[in-house]
Amino acid sequence: MEKQDIVIIGGGPAGLAAGIYASRAALKVTLLEKGMPGGLMANTEIIENYPGFAEGIGGPELTMRMQEQAVRFGLQIDNTGVELIKSTGNEFKIKTDEDTISSKAVILASGASPRWLGVKGEKEFHGKGVSYCATCDGAFFKDKTVAVVGGGDAAVEEALFLTKFAEKVYIIHRRDELRATKVIQSKALQNSKINIEWNSVVDEIRGSATVENITLRDTQDNSTRELNVDGIFIYVGTQPSSELVADMAELDPRGYVITDDEMKTSQPGLFAAGDVRQKLLRQVATAVADGAIAAFAAEKYLDDNAAKK
Ligand code: NAP
Repeated sequence: MEKQDIVIIGGGPAGLAAGIYASRAALKVTLLEKGMPGGLMANTEIIENYPGFAEGIGGPELTMRMQEQAVRFGLQIDNTGVELIKSTGNEFKIKTDEDTISSKAVILASGASPRWLGVKGEKEFHGKGVSYCATCDGAFFKDKTVAVVGGGDAAVEEALFLTKFAEKVYIIHRRDELRATKVIQSKALQNSKINIEWNSVVDEIRGSATVENITLRDTQDNSTRELNVDGIFIYVGTQPSSELVADMAELDPRGYVITDDEMKTSQPGLFAAGDVRQKLLRQVATAVADGAIAAFAAEKYLDDNAAKK
């Protein structure tokens, strides 16, 4: 592939927005995405707070629309993973599964992935009743009983979504108060299919071919009890996919990439956008804003470098 002006890594809302802005600015730009575009957005059944869609919009549909818009402006999207990024002074070498690409600037929009609980049985039953994606797997649990672990927006929203299929949904939360936004909380508290197990953590996931029950531990008195469930959905937060730039850019103690207001990292020419960067609010709206700023700032970086020559 000929040398690129900008390579974008990741095809979630931040990467796609960066792609729309950069390709519309007539730059040579390629977006690399190892899986399906959309990132965590594509796994979200309905997005209610992205401006412009009064009735909400499905994550897969919003992904498709963003992708179509980017491609219309000429964005090249390659379905490939990235193994390594190296800075060689004033350009980057990006080693993909198939090729090595040279680029003047890089926008890292690699997002974050679901965090695992780290309990016995989680790995063994992954895909056999343990899931991190209700949108993908919820329909398998028609008229069944499922547990959702976590008390944040993701856990509570996905628990609500699962009530469409499951007969009973337990939310297992380690405290006596949910972290989720009040609007989402009150919907869950009013839903008769949802039962919240307060002050509880999962100690073990058990079953034979698929999940059959879980052991819960009371966080206040340490007592344990069994709960029969057919599936368990884990939503205990996310971890940034920042390994590719760990040697190159400054990260915070949790691994998020530190940027300034222009999405610049500590490595000149490397920008970060979306969930992978340290920020206050991780939403589709803030991801697309980051992507737009990163593309604009990268364009400015390219112009400044060209003027110096
Ligand atoms: P989050 O807000 O970090 O919440 C994680 C939840 O998991 C917390 O309730 C936490 O408990 C619990 N938890 C963490 N580690 C645990 C462990 N080892 N065992 C048991 N429980 C554990 O993560 P999130 O819900 O995935 O959301 C991530 C970001 O995306 C947030 O900024 C969120 O606002 C955003 N998001 C927004 C929407 C929306 O607005 N519609 C939807 C989805 C996600 P504690 O509360 O005790 O810490």
